[in-house]
Amino acid sequence: MKALQQITVLGSTGSIGVSSLDVIARHPESFAVFALTAHRQVDLLIHQCLVHRPLYAVIGDAEQAANARHALRAHGLNTQILTGPQGLIDVAGASDVDIVIAAIVGAAGLRPTMAGVQAGKRILLANKESLVMAGGLFMQQVATHNATLLPVDSEHNAIFQCLPTGSTSLEKAGVKRLLLTGSGGPFRTTPLDQLAGVTPEEACAHPNWSMGRKISVDSATMMNKGLEYIEACWLFGARPEQIQILLHPQSIVHSMVEYTDGSVLAQLGVPDMRTPIAHCLAWPARAASGVPSLDFLNMPPLEFSPPSEERFPCLNLAVASFKAGGTCPAALNAANEVAVDAFLAGSLTFTQIAEVVDNVMQTWQNSEPTSLDAVECADREARLSARKHIQQFAGHPLT
Ligand code: NAD
Ligand code: MG
Repeated sequence: MKALQQITVLGSTGSIGVSSLDVIARHPESFAVFALTAHRQVDLLIHQCLVHRPLYAVIGDAEQAANARHALRAHGLNTQILTGPQGLIDVAGASDVDIVIAAIVGAAGLRPTMAGVQAGKRILLANKESLVMAGGLFMQQVATHNATLLPVDSEHNAIFQCLPTGSTSLEKAGVKRLLLTGSGGPFRTTPLDQLAGVTPEEACAHPNWSMGRKISVDSATMMNKGLEYIEACWLFGARPEQIQILLHPQSIVHSMVEYTDGSVLAQLGVPDMRTPIAHCLAWPARAASGVPSLDFLNMPPLEFSPPSEERFPCLNLAVASFKAGGTCPAALNAANEVAVDAFLAGSLTFTQIAEVVDNVMQTWQNSEPTSLDAVECADREARLSARKHIQQFAGHPLT
C-alpha cells in the first residue's frame, strides 16, 4: 500500500463529506485529498479547497465554476475546476485515486460511484441509493473490477464489524439474523393524527444524528430504514427474512449480528458518522476519528421495540419493492426523492410522502434492468409518475 492514499470525496460539502474531511485532516501522514465535489455550495467548496488543496474540484453548475476558478486563482491555488456529471465520473475513476468516498445524496450518486467501482477503487459507500437502485448490477461490477466496497452507513458498518473478516456468505459464517436498528426519528411518539401537519423543520430535527435534509426526512418516515434494509440485503447477501428491524431510540447500538449458537454481536458508539468513516478509511487497521468515548456510566437505558406499520408505512413499501425486485426499488427510490423534495418545498404533507410512493408502486410496470441506462430510464419514469400524483394531491390533476 502507498504511504499516502489519494482520496476523492464525492459530495464533500454535505454532512458526510464534511465529517469525512474532518477525519482525513487528522491523518495527514496517511491521506491526501485528490478531488472534492459540490452541487451548489460553492463557497464551502472553495473553503475546503483552501484547506485540503486538492488537484481537482467539481462543481455542478458551469457559471458557478467560472467564479470558483477566479476565486481559487486569487488565492494562488492550482486546483483545476471541472463541471457537471462527467467531471464527477472523471475524478471518481482517475488512475491516481485510491479511495472514493461516495457521499452524494440520491440517484445523482449512482454514475460517479459506479465509475469508482469500475476503476477498482476502495469505495466508502454512504450513497445507499446506488445499491437500492441498481444493487444487482452494482455488486456484479464490484466483483468484476475487484473493487473494495466498505459500508459507511452506520448500521451496515456495525454489521460489517460484527461479521468475521473476509466473510463471503452469512450461512458459512453461521449467521442467523441481522438486527438493523433505527431511532424512529423525531415523530416516534407524535400522535398519529398530528403527523399530516408536521413541518419540514420539525422533520429535519433528528433527535440523535445531524444529517442532510433528504436523509433526515427519510429517517422521520423510516423510508431510510427501508432503503437500508435493501442495502443490507445486497451488501451481505441476506435473504429478506434474515433481517429484523428494531426501534432503538438511543442510537447507541448501531446494529447487531445474531449467530446460530445464540451469540449476538453488537457495535456500540456515540452517534457520530466519523466513527464508521474512520473505520472504512483505515480498514483493516483502526484510526482516531475525534469521536468521544461512550460514557457507560451516564448513558440512558437502551430500549428496543418493533416499528409500527401504521406509523411508518414507507418501511413496508421498501421491503415489498425489494421482494418484487427488478426496477421496483429504483422506482420506489425515485418516487421517494420527488415526494421528499415536494414536502421540503411545502407542496406535500408529511403523510402524503408515503401515499405518493404507494401510488407509484401500485401502477409500476416491473422489468429486470440489464444496464444502468435501464435503471435510469425507470428512475425518470417513476419521477414523472410521482409528479402526476403530487399534482393530483394539490387538486390539479394532469389529463
Ligand atoms: P447532504 O445533503 O448533506 O449532502 C449531499 C452532497 O451531495 C452535497 O455535497 C451536495 O453538493 C451533493 N449533491 C447533491 N445533489 C447533487 C447532484 N445532483 N449532483 C452532484 N452532487 C450533488 O447529504 P448527506 O446527509 O451527507 O448524505 C449523503 C449520502 O450519505 C446520502 O446518500 C445519505 O443517505 C448517506 N448517509 C448519510 C448519513 C448522515 O449521517 N448524513 C448517514 C448514512 C448515510
Ligand atoms: Mg444509517
